[in-house]
Amino acid sequence: MSDKFDVIVIGGGPAGYHAAIRAAQLGLKSAVVDAFIGKDGKAALGGTCLNVGCIPSKALLDSSKQFFNLSHNLPAHGISVENAKVDMTTFIGRKDKIVKQFTGGVDQLFKVNKIVSFFGKGKLLKGNEVEITGNDGKKQTISATNVILASGSVPIELPFAKFDGKNIIDNAGALDIDKVPKTLGVIGAGVIGLELGSVWNRLGAQVTILEALPDFLGTADADIAKVAQREFKKQGLDIKLGAKLGKAEVKKDGVHLVYTDKDGEQKLVVDKLLVAVGRRAYTDGLLADDTGVKLDDRGRIIVDEHCHTGVDGVWAVGDAVRGPMLAHKGFEEGMAVAEWIAGKAGHVNYDTIPWVIYTEPEIAWAGKTEKQLKDEGVPYKTGSFPFAAIGRAVAMNEAIGQVKMIAHAETDRILGVHMVGPGVSELIAECVVAMEFKGSSEDLARIVHAHPTLSEAVHEAALAVDKRAIHKGN
Ligand code: NAD
Repeated sequence: MSDKFDVIVIGGGPAGYHAAIRAAQLGLKSAVVDAFIGKDGKAALGGTCLNVGCIPSKALLDSSKQFFNLSHNLPAHGISVENAKVDMTTFIGRKDKIVKQFTGGVDQLFKVNKIVSFFGKGKLLKGNEVEITGNDGKKQTISATNVILASGSVPIELPFAKFDGKNIIDNAGALDIDKVPKTLGVIGAGVIGLELGSVWNRLGAQVTILEALPDFLGTADADIAKVAQREFKKQGLDIKLGAKLGKAEVKKDGVHLVYTDKDGEQKLVVDKLLVAVGRRAYTDGLLADDTGVKLDDRGRIIVDEHCHTGVDGVWAVGDAVRGPMLAHKGFEEGMAVAEWIAGKAGHVNYDTIPWVIYTEPEIAWAGKTEKQLKDEGVPYKTGSFPFAAIGRAVAMNEAIGQVKMIAHAETDRILGVHMVGPGVSELIAECVVAMEFKGSSEDLARIVHAHPTLSEAVHEAALAVDKRAIHKGN
């Protein structure tokens, strides 16, 4: 085996493995360097998403939803279960099995595509060489015409609430709690805080979320955030806004928090503390001093619109570069870079990247919020439709939330779609397709949607933009 490749990808997470597979499909001799060690102590591909992110969190969200439904949804169907219990070994074990299945799956895909996998920490050297340091400290150097940096991100650590893996934990720690804590504190009412806070709340923990900002879920459309906040409150999530953590001290009886809110200094003691205040690009030890690759003021690798670093043959994708830290954004960048390297027309439309928060109800959106359009002075019209008037949602006993569509006031082009409700993680796909094809609300309004389905909420919201929704007053 020669150590010269067409493409070396540093990082085998979502962005990196998509880049490698697409490059291999295009006939490029590809290698991936990754240092992730799984829970079983063995090398595991798939990065944060497969090992400690998207996939395991969805496994726990689904298990905890089943449990929560026993007491909160099934009684309405006339079904009752007494003394329901969660076996924590099975609960966590199921998640671990799913993770193993998917990380092993990436390994298999590499074999099928003849991608050479190197275990160890990769460092870019000048001249597109990559130095790999194994766990035993042994080094080897490989080189390529093109290097794709896909080193991902790591949780941001607060200096006054440092992770100890037991009492003060990050997202990975919150996926492996072996006993339901009586109380769980969460710092940050962002995506991770809400998803993992929901998991433990559903299993019976008293969850308190401290969020520094005064508004709830400021990145979402305000109408959607309002519904979500109300529903989370009903479920027992105690979300305190404008609450800034000042100190977290681990003592015998729990983690002692001191925070300030509009009423001054407050204290709270919790069994465990999950800190989920965002993630930072992970570039520690990634770049030799003389590579010429530059970082921005937030530590992200600087790239142009084609994910090129400006250094000949060096590209960067995924969480390590600008843009939302979403696995699917990384997928698309990885594939596009492989295509650009192969001289093809890669494509990523950053304007239609969907966002999904896998809480109950789910939250999903794509495009601009009403506030963004107002601030930009773009004329728009909106149409909303509640799931309460959707037969399928009512039959499911999940008639919560709404779909809100925003279209340009003059051209009717869809500018944003915002949803909170059952199954919206799937419903948003239709809207993304419409937006990608520069569709109008009328386009969606004229498309036949199956009855009875949840997708009728999208159809009715599209009709509502033109004030002609059928199952509600306009
Ligand atoms: P986030 O940016 O979604 O939320 C962090 C929250 O913490 C923000 O609301 C912020 O205001 C708050 N915060 C920051 N500092 C604080 C402090 N000192 N005290 C109190 N609150 C504070 O970040 P996250 O939830 O950690 O997630 C990290 C990244 O992972 C995000 O970019 C997210 O998009 C991604 N992710 C996505 C999904 C998904 O797509 N479903 C799931 C998990 C993670």
